Amino acid sequence: MIHKTLLVDPAKCTGCRTCEMACSLRHEAKCSPLLSRTRVIKFEAKGLNFPTVCAHCSKPHCMTACTQGAIRVDEETGAVVINEALCSGCRACLTACPHGQVGFHPEKRVAFKCDLCGGDPNCARQCPTGAIKYSGVDQFLMARRRALLARSIEA
Ligand code: SF4
Repeated sequence: MIHKTLLVDPAKCTGCRTCEMACSLRHEAKCSPLLSRTRVIKFEAKGLNFPTVCAHCSKPHCMTACTQGAIRVDEETGAVVINEALCSGCRACLTACPHGQVGFHPEKRVAFKCDLCGGDPNCARQCPTGAIKYSGVDQFLMARRRALLARSIEA
């Protein structure tokens, strides 16, 4: 089964952080960038903003590193998800993720990460500019090709 995933277009990101608020509200009922699974990295001197999201890797390093069996792949969505109840808080998954996409909850003392909101990611739903999309890779690439061609036709 081909799953959809989160795809970002930094050129469309204004750095408003709506995605972070949408994520922390959905998961933690709080508006807090520290509790967001999605993170916007800003390079203010250059005026650049990069939304960063979990790639839900096909061979997830976080899952391999977890000795508690707390991380698994959701078969329905393809999301790599953490079961808080099984997490011991050892942080091996934080170290193992090459993309820095696993966080640590300061109060619950467990690891947390993107779970694609069960198949309807709130970051993509709320992003006002379409910088984060939840889509199939083929659809995303086709949209990119269309946009590129449209620009060259206009030029
Ligand atoms: S912090 Fe939790 S989820 Fe991460 S490796 Fe340790 S037990 Fe597993």
